[in-house]
Amino acid sequence: MSEQTVTRATFDEVMLPNYSPLQMIPVKGLGSHVWDQEGREYIDFSGGIAVNCLGHCHPALVSAINEQSQKLWHVSNIWTNEPALQLAQKLVDSTFADKVFFCNSGAEANEAALKLARRYALEKFGAEKDQIIAFKQSFHGRTLFTVTAGGQPAYSDGFGPKPGAIDHAVYNDLSSLEALISDKTCAVILEPMLGEGGVTPATESFIKGVRELCNKHNALMILDEVQTGFGRTGHLYMYQAYGVTPDILSSAKSLGGGFPIGAILTTNEVGQHLKFGTHGTTYGGNPLGCAIAGAAFDVINTEAVLSGIMQREQMFREHLTAINEKYNVFSEIRGQGLLLGAVMNEAHQGQAREFMAAALEQGLMVLVAGANVVRFAPALVIEPQDIADGLARFEKAVARVVAAG
Ligand SMILES: *Cc1c(COP(=O)(O)O)cnc(C)c1O
Repeated sequence: MSEQTVTRATFDEVMLPNYSPLQMIPVKGLGSHVWDQEGREYIDFSGGIAVNCLGHCHPALVSAINEQSQKLWHVSNIWTNEPALQLAQKLVDSTFADKVFFCNSGAEANEAALKLARRYALEKFGAEKDQIIAFKQSFHGRTLFTVTAGGQPAYSDGFGPKPGAIDHAVYNDLSSLEALISDKTCAVILEPMLGEGGVTPATESFIKGVRELCNKHNALMILDEVQTGFGRTGHLYMYQAYGVTPDILSSAKSLGGGFPIGAILTTNEVGQHLKFGTHGTTYGGNPLGCAIAGAAFDVINTEAVLSGIMQREQMFREHLTAINEKYNVFSEIRGQGLLLGAVMNEAHQGQAREFMAAALEQGLMVLVAGANVVRFAPALVIEPQDIADGLARFEKAVARVVAAG
């Protein structure tokens, strides 16, 4: 039986309207190139929102999924499995962590991190130590707990009562955290760089200050590295760039290179409180996902790939700066590694989506982060030629938007 023909119009007929996808429907990808239903080619600087760390259909991932798909896909956590243990071993060996928990997404990883922090504080200090401090403009996922921690009421309002004891400080403003934190604080959760919230890195003094305040009040520091982790910033995890060690770290997105998987990493001291039966997931740590993530890890966690990310960042920065000298549209290029944001200047406030649409017309997939930032999160191994070609297309898009006024 052949499949029915589907188009963008089918989306409106059969899918819930919580997304509003662009017109073009991708059908095939290879490396940093994508083709749509009409066979038109695009260069991909979106990376599936910082997920496709090795681009599309990378040979290492294709062979990992092929091999594992003929051995074992899923057994549940009634049994453990080799790929999960091997991946956990790799993560433990290359980070601060002693222990790992696997799940299927970033939201689930943060949900687990927050639940673990609450349980740790309850057992170690008592029920009154339950406050979670998060930051305005941050993003931690869409479950009710994580969306409430995220600092955007537009995402968390309208779903009934929210989980309590969650307060919000101002990102990169240590005094606002100092005003909220106390011995009742169980955890502070933050992204080392705001991803969805505008591609804004934490300042070094801020992130170090968060660590010190957490120490002072026996609060756990949870770093949400769902977007920044797994090589994205040129370090396996971004905390390593700051030299600030969290108590719990959440990882997802790039971790699976396109296959859904999430994880939290933590210490023995904290992790022992997620006792038998306290938390779980059916699919978390399944052999198929872990085999793929393990293969991605082996490619990413090498000196050559990590330093290559820094070189690619330089290429982006130089090209974008040159485009800006010509067209004067950005106030700043910010971010780190291959999570970069071109920030709209005064004259182009609110136009990030117009740049995204214009780029697509030129055959380039980019992202936005809010109304004022065009976001780039390409494959970490993107070919330098693809960067050059993609930015040439971006320049044409910028010229179009500027000409349109
Ligand atoms: C994407 C993202 C999440 C949510 O991950 P999902 O896999 O969509 O649940 C959480 N935190 C950060 C920083 C993210 O960028």
